[in-house]
Amino acid sequence: MGKKKPKKERKYGRATRRCVRCGSYGALIRRYNLYLCRRCFREVAKKLGFRKYE
Ligand SMILES: [Zn+2]
Repeated sequence: MGKKKPKKERKYGRATRRCVRCGSYGALIRRYNLYLCRRCFREVAKKLGFRKYE
C-alpha cells in the first residue's frame, strides 16, 4: 500500500473563493450569497431585476 497524500485545500489566502458560475477568480461579489464575479453578477442581476449595476 502506498502513501496517500491528502489533497491540498487552501482555505486561506487570496483565491479561496471563485465565481460559482464561470469559475473565474477575481473581483467577486458576495452580495445576496451569490458568489459571482462582476461579469456574471451583471447577467444574473438582470434576471433578478437589479438595474443598479450597469
Ligand atoms: Zn463568473
